[in-house]
Amino acid sequence: MAAAYAQPLSVLDIHLDRVARNYLLLKKKVQAEAAGGDCAAVVKADAYGLGAAEVSRALYKQSCRHFFVAHYGEALEVKEALQGLYGVADAPSIYVLNGPFGAPAADFAANGFIPVLNSPQDIDYWAQTGQGDKRPAALLHIDTGMNRLGLSGGEVEALAARGDLSRILDIRYVMSHLACADEKDHPKNAAQLELFKQLTARLGIAARYSFANSSGIFLGPAYHFDLARPGCALYGINPGTGENPMQGTVTLKARILQTRKIDRNGTVGYGATYSVSPPAICATVSTGYADGYLRSLTGRGTVVIGGKTCPVIGRVSMDSVVVDASALDAPPRPGDWAEIIGERQTVDAVAAQAGTIGYEILTSLGRRYRRNYTGG
Ligand SMILES: *Cc1c(COP(=O)(O)O)cnc(C)c1O
Repeated sequence: MAAAYAQPLSVLDIHLDRVARNYLLLKKKVQAEAAGGDCAAVVKADAYGLGAAEVSRALYKQSCRHFFVAHYGEALEVKEALQGLYGVADAPSIYVLNGPFGAPAADFAANGFIPVLNSPQDIDYWAQTGQGDKRPAALLHIDTGMNRLGLSGGEVEALAARGDLSRILDIRYVMSHLACADEKDHPKNAAQLELFKQLTARLGIAARYSFANSSGIFLGPAYHFDLARPGCALYGINPGTGENPMQGTVTLKARILQTRKIDRNGTVGYGATYSVSPPAICATVSTGYADGYLRSLTGRGTVVIGGKTCPVIGRVSMDSVVVDASALDAPPRPGDWAEIIGERQTVDAVAAQAGTIGYEILTSLGRRYRRNYTGG
């Protein structure tokens, strides 16, 4: 036990081999069902909190050649991470979902980053950045029902009427994004697919298409088109509502700092919201909301200690959380591990406890965890 004092308080293991396996499963699905289809990797928000550099390198080695980020700065990170892995012939394409914002166009172009053009303003701006007869490369996003980013139907009409799109821009893919793909039977899926087909036909250019996110891949071949854009499924989040076909990719454990034998009635934590009475064993675990252990897990979260599930009692603090460890045969000892995410508690399960989605749990993972990359 004394040895634990010299060791990290909390460890986040990131299993790159499982990210790679998830990628290959998705790619196989896309390629088996749609000839010529390819599979990108969405690595925005630091690869959903796992680490964009490490994840991008691991996936490049699995022949992933298309990477999506949201910001220019993220594109730089991915590019730097991949430097040295490729020659001219097998350079990756890096697409920026939030558009040509955040840096001068010359910097985008010099790095070879390809922005997603989400509006007529984006199109006009980006088209002007061409040098000589070299058309700027871009993805064109059309909205089919998210009402978040992308050209509206009317704007697609206007663009088609202009008739100069292919002359002014090198459109690599025309894309759209599904709103409800995680609900397989939601009528909006088919409606968006139909509208995507109509609007791309209306656009009247020869192009390749990108439509499916993780969940979209599982809606069937009609949704695959030329380039799928999975994010969450790569990281082990269930893309649907049935049994999860993906593998969990993170293990998070934190040390028990102190255990306490309750010998009189009392309360636990800020606000004295939880009452405790003997006999009970409490354990204080070294993770809190500053680590991304969301405060909404108060009264709802669990951790696993020695194979037993222990409920969070009292409010989640900034740096620690108290759990009821009375279910253990013997009280845990300071320095022992509590599993927060892992084999026994999936990211999706923790998200359900917190009243959120796995995406938010992963992208909230804190900076104080000792990060261990394995299987890269
Ligand atoms: C984030 C994002 C994705 C990936 O979505 P997942 O649900 O994580 O697979 C794909 N396309 C766009 C436009 C996105 O913003």
